[in-house]
Amino acid sequence: MKPQPVKLELVGDDRLRIEWDDGQKREYRVRELRDRCPCATCREKRTAPQPAPGMLPVLAPEETQPLQIQGMNPVGHYAYNIRFSDGHDTGIYSLELLRELGRETRNDE
Ligand SMILES: [Zn+2]
Repeated sequence: MKPQPVKLELVGDDRLRIEWDDGQKREYRVRELRDRCPCATCREKRTAPQPAPGMLPVLAPEETQPLQIQGMNPVGHYAYNIRFSDGHDTGIYSLELLRELGRETRNDE
């Protein structure tokens, strides 16, 4: 049996905390989750050639706003769909991926 989240909690404006049923707690920056979005569009973007050095990437207006999580929905028993404040909601985050991302925190943090 793989570890399952028992509690999802937003911490401040830009972080998510997940408690797992094996006692582990992990904290994620919303931006990190967004950057690691596993959907096909984002995977393609990440492998696309980067702008030449010295050129600034062009940001869409929604990318300059503080990024937040607007919703998380379980997908079966193996993943979560995350809805971001920039309107992106096609990423399905497997529990394995969520266990890789973020960092483990202790109770007293
Ligand atoms: Zn995506």
